[in-house]
Amino acid sequence: MRTRFAPSPTGLLHLGNMRTALFNYLLARGAHGAFLLRIEDTDAMRGHEKYAQALMQDLEWLELRWDEGPERGGPAGPYAQSQRGAIYDKHFAELEASGLAYPCFCTEHELKVERKTQLASGQPPRYSGKCRRLSAEEVEERRARGLAATLRFRVADDRTVEFEDRVRGPQRFASADIGDFVIRRSDGTPAFFFCNAVDDALMGVTLVLRGEDHLTNTPRQLLLLEALKLAAPAYAHIPLVVGADGAPLSKRTGSKSLQELRDAGFLPLAIDNYLARVGHTYNDNRLLPLSDLAAQFDLARVHHSPARFDEAQLLHWQREALRHESTVALWRWMGDEVHKLVPGNKQTDFVDTVRANIVFPGDALRWAQVFFGEDFALTGEARELIKEAPGSYLERYLELVKQHPNDPMLLGRDLPSGPAPGITRGQRFQLLRAALTNSRHGPEFVRLHHLLGTERIIKRLEDAIKLHSEAS
Ligand code: GLU
Repeated sequence: MRTRFAPSPTGLLHLGNMRTALFNYLLARGAHGAFLLRIEDTDAMRGHEKYAQALMQDLEWLELRWDEGPERGGPAGPYAQSQRGAIYDKHFAELEASGLAYPCFCTEHELKVERKTQLASGQPPRYSGKCRRLSAEEVEERRARGLAATLRFRVADDRTVEFEDRVRGPQRFASADIGDFVIRRSDGTPAFFFCNAVDDALMGVTLVLRGEDHLTNTPRQLLLLEALKLAAPAYAHIPLVVGADGAPLSKRTGSKSLQELRDAGFLPLAIDNYLARVGHTYNDNRLLPLSDLAAQFDLARVHHSPARFDEAQLLHWQREALRHESTVALWRWMGDEVHKLVPGNKQTDFVDTVRANIVFPGDALRWAQVFFGEDFALTGEARELIKEAPGSYLERYLELVKQHPNDPMLLGRDLPSGPAPGITRGQRFQLLRAALTNSRHGPEFVRLHHLLGTERIIKRLEDAIKLHSEAS
């Protein structure tokens, strides 16, 4: 099995693009085959170098290592289309020599009028074949006049192109609906249909998995490969990823680029685990390493309807990845600001205390400020909770702490039920947490005790008691 990811470097990759890359990677790995990266940069777009670099960084970050492609090389290189001009020229010449392609001098304007007329009379727009009938002299005459020509591929009128899509099942297209299509633009650059198909064949790609927006390109590409006597790959077209609003996921609909997700603090394994389940079902709902995601990936489990981007799911996998990440890696991930606040001997403790209560490095910073910041002060919800607390529970906790300053289990102990009714055990614990951490929920009490130390616990309980008595 040889699969490939063939992005056009026209912008930063988003989750939809990355899912295509991931599925191709998983298919190749699962079959012990090869995963290729090909940069489709024929448009000579300004800035494409930058985007090609960025997408390679994204792939590396997600650990989707390509076996052949830019930077790694391989037997079928070069792997950037901008460097394959000579290869395309050879195949253009072959098609021209056998009469399967011909120069077309129709201008953009003429083609536009033609399309309009066809649409107006209810016909599907397709090239009329006007230049197909030009004699050698007529071609020469136009060239002599300096007219620019595209190169068109000749499509027979009476063919049926059939193939078995590996996701969508049997496909059938009438060649009469396709019409002769451009394979080389008038500026000499190859058109997508052409170089994309030629490269897949020459690079020995055996399965092309791509977005279903390319489904109708496939019959054209199959006809081309047949004309060039090149082996065609199998095709699998997957439904697009759509936003929560059902519209296609693209930068325009505000979906985030991989770079933005990385900068926000998402872990690569979280994204891999999320994307592998966007439009594909696993039986195993645990966080899986790439090797297991690959072993269990199955084209038969790819969905046929559009996959919706679901942020809650992405966050679920982020929490899972945080749970499994090593302490050292998480510490690094938390970043400089956290490193400055947490004392050296408390690093491991801090990481393992907060890991279940954070999603992003910013959350870790908030906890670092709670535990080690100079200016701890009660705010918002915690403040209200303490002001309105019935009874004198905080005083009793304070007494307890003073009596047993070194008992690490102290805070988790239940107090004997006091005179004030209407407060449950859970609410008492929330009150205590609020006083100590400014938050109703959070890490276990033993860990809180250890990180805060008795002195700070006493100080915070005293402050909370003061606030409570002022309010009542
Ligand atoms: N460069 C094309 C794209 O980014 C590749 C399509 C394909 O995978 O064949 O849409």
